[in-house]
Amino acid sequence: MDFPTPCPACGHANRVAFTESGVHDVTCVQCGARSYVFLRKQRFEVLFDLGTRALMDGYAREAVASFAAALERFFEFYVRAFTLEQAANTDRDFSLAQGALDGTWRHVASQSERQLGMFALAYLLRQGREPDFLTPAGLGTDFRNRVIHRGALPTRAEVDAYAAAVFALMDRLLSELGPAAAHVELAQEQVFAAHLARLPANVTAVFEEHPGMFRARRFGGLAPAVKPARPEVAGGRSVNDAKAFQQALFQQALAERGALLRAFKGSGG
Ligand SMILES: [Zn+2]
Repeated sequence: MDFPTPCPACGHANRVAFTESGVHDVTCVQCGARSYVFLRKQRFEVLFDLGTRALMDGYAREAVASFAAALERFFEFYVRAFTLEQAANTDRDFSLAQGALDGTWRHVASQSERQLGMFALAYLLRQGREPDFLTPAGLGTDFRNRVIHRGALPTRAEVDAYAAAVFALMDRLLSELGPAAAHVELAQEQVFAAHLARLPANVTAVFEEHPGMFRARRFGGLAPAVKPARPEVAGGRSVNDAKAFQQALFQQALAERGALLRAFKGSGG
């Protein structure tokens, strides 16, 4: 999977494959200029945006795998945000806390069930209540397994509902995390700073903020999520219909961010 990025020397839009680190070593195919592109985006965001793009392009089945992976990486993001937030409230050194976190994560990295356990405890400790949404129904687990492991061919409506449920859950948890999310971003900035310090003299550093389904929410651009309260539905069951709310939220984000995503991924990937 790749994204377009303009060459700082000639403006040519080079296509660059996403890296795990968010750091991309780019040599322009048109003028040969070398640049380092630092992409300020979390993995769950990249994955969710790729899923959204697949859905917009009509690849409903492929979208499910990206949404499912986005949710797993989001749970990791939450654990990291919580842990670093805890460390920030003490006088412990940030890099020591981060090293301990990375070491701990290695124990659970290869098994998503273990990661889910980490998340459940992080949620309990941070919010002081049970993560009651961690049910197969709440996570769409059966649907996900049918599609990913048993080759089921989902309808567009089923994938829309799954995407909306994943989006609404992540959006809600991001809102609850609030400024804690910034701790993970700080960790990413430190990785970038280390690369920047080693940058060869003839290489230009480029920092990119990418549009995405979650950026607006996190930076205050998206209208606040409110349950639909139109008079015609206020008396009906729609007000309490969680699925309808999830769909409305996802459609709202799609309407506001979809065009940007189209430009972000372009036609070459
Ligand atoms: Zn160039």
